[in-house]
Amino acid sequence: MDLSLDRLKLILESFHKPVEYGKSDLIRKLSELNTTNQESMSIRRMEHHLQKRILMGNNKFNTCALCGDELPNDLLVVAHIKKRADCNHLQRCDPNVVMLNYALGCDSLYEKGYVSVHEGKITENGKAIRSARISGYLSAIVNRDCTAFNDESRDYFEEHFQRHRTKPQA
Ligand SMILES: [Zn+2]
Repeated sequence: MDLSLDRLKLILESFHKPVEYGKSDLIRKLSELNTTNQESMSIRRMEHHLQKRILMGNNKFNTCALCGDELPNDLLVVAHIKKRADCNHLQRCDPNVVMLNYALGCDSLYEKGYVSVHEGKITENGKAIRSARISGYLSAIVNRDCTAFNDESRDYFEEHFQRHRTKPQA
């Protein structure tokens, strides 16, 4: 075997450690790009359009499952209650694994784990926030009943809650 353990470790580390570029290096790299489009194989989420049609129906407006606001469909996104990457095929094809969320607010706050849903109620997870706008947004939705919560979606919400909830200090 050619590779010593140390060398193998170095190679493995290089996959995880992003190369640190200064801002001026990045600006130079940007100016040196020959093309801005790259052909790529992309994975289409085959179930997505069906989930979207099921959730939106024939309405032009629908309700965000977290804040309860009625919004035009183009400001609503099909949000995964349980992270899609962690779902198996059957779960991805379950209409109860998704909900409609307001694109400019609830969607990101849920996806990034600022809020979860526990036993049907929106809970805040205690992540640091330095913006009065976000604090205000959170206080308006925390403790609301989530309209996507039911017996079929309960486990998906719970998985998200357990993943993001503030861990008790040891
Ligand atoms: Zn909302």
